[in-house]
Amino acid sequence: MTIFVGGLLLLLWLLQIVFLDDFYKRIKINEIQSAGNRIAKYIDNNQIGTLMENIAQDKEFCIVLATEEGEVIYSEQVLSNCTIHHMSYKDYYSFAEKARRNGGTDLQRIPYMVVTSNGGMENNLLKRAPMRLSKKMESVIYTQLIPRENGSHYVLMINGFISPVNATVETIRKQLIYVTFIMLTMAFVLALFIAKKVAQPIEKINNTAKKLATGIGDIHFEGKGYKEIAELSSTLTYAATELAKAENLRQELIANVSHDLRTPLTLITGYAEVMRDLPGENTPENTQIIIDEAKRLTNLVNDMLDLSKLQAGTVQLSEITFNLTESTRRIMSRYAALTEQEGYHITFAYDEEVNVKADELRLSQVLYNLINNAINYTGDDKKVIVRQVVHDGKVRIEVIDTGEGIEEESLPYIWDRYYKVDKTHKRATVGTGLGLSIVRTILESHGAEYGVISSNGVGSTFWFTLPQA
Ligand code: ADP
Repeated sequence: MTIFVGGLLLLLWLLQIVFLDDFYKRIKINEIQSAGNRIAKYIDNNQIGTLMENIAQDKEFCIVLATEEGEVIYSEQVLSNCTIHHMSYKDYYSFAEKARRNGGTDLQRIPYMVVTSNGGMENNLLKRAPMRLSKKMESVIYTQLIPRENGSHYVLMINGFISPVNATVETIRKQLIYVTFIMLTMAFVLALFIAKKVAQPIEKINNTAKKLATGIGDIHFEGKGYKEIAELSSTLTYAATELAKAENLRQELIANVSHDLRTPLTLITGYAEVMRDLPGENTPENTQIIIDEAKRLTNLVNDMLDLSKLQAGTVQLSEITFNLTESTRRIMSRYAALTEQEGYHITFAYDEEVNVKADELRLSQVLYNLINNAINYTGDDKKVIVRQVVHDGKVRIEVIDTGEGIEEESLPYIWDRYYKVDKTHKRATVGTGLGLSIVRTILESHGAEYGVISSNGVGSTFWFTLPQA
């Protein structure tokens, strides 16, 4: 900040103090030359007198227009002590001669000469006046030869003064000292302010971010200051919380998976050992337990694979238009054995045949999962109802059971991976905790609406809707 302000100030000093004199002189000389050119351009105009007068008054120049022989045609004396109205005929000739040799123009810069004689005969170019030198001012005499129709030339002389800018420079120098002081102080204050408002919060955020990398504990970013920095802080805090959540999920997942795998494995090993060591235990029931547990393992592994494939988006939906009623009926028929052997009442209620456009295989997976859950959790009356309702161009499938229902506080979580309402009694039911998560992923990839209506003691209704095809 200070370097930047210092640079600006240096530029100011150079322009205002060091080069000001040069700039000023160059501008003044340019003005004189362009005045000469304008007069030369309009020399034949009958308004030339007015033009010369205007230029002289405006720019404070003395102007003389004469013939080569020294006869003054026009003279404008704005400055009482100008050089060209007080010089000798010889000087006049020498200026004209120099211009001729120079190709038509000549510019002389001579130290200012104060005329001490009385100014009664200013118009007389032949008069030679006694002069006194003053080092500080410069008199600029510009001579230009302007061609005439008769082959000879007009001699135009313009005289302007360059007054010393020392006084001005001195004033500016004093001002610049103040400006330098004020600017540097302001730069310092501003730098402090920026450091406090921007740099410090960013440093804080940076330090917290380093902690984030090591992944310890509850991380809260505290960068305040500008709105953007505060926003960055809260975004990072949010990211840290999400990361922590993911980490928790990962740990829970490992715990769940290993638990789910270990229990059937222990059972299988246990029963197999008993059957090997005690011949009397080699019964069909025990073999069945081993088979059941092995199936459970297979189901768990399949579910896990399914879910990870679905969630990684590697499974492409192959949507076709099919008869959903027909498809549901087919699924229901698979439960016939269950109905016969174990006394379940599984019914399908529908009014009409409905077509939908969806991935049939995935949708049947949804139905299986919902019906399996309903069977697992339904009440003592062993009733499960699947209902199809068509309304407003949409088909709604409901899977209803009469079980304990789900407590309200658990409702938002049942769709999460590995979520089981009663975590302490995993063996009580046969679930893996993945079923509803698979259901959710499939329904969401279809853009379907879904949900559950459940109240404790009454039972649950899991539902989803799809547009009719
Ligand atoms: P699980 O394999 O344990 O059934 P899900 O993801 O299918 O896993 O279900 C998650 C949890 O939601 C279940 O553990 C259970 O507590 C609850 N749940 C699911 N369906 C029902 C239902 N029909 N009645 C009561 N609770 C249910």
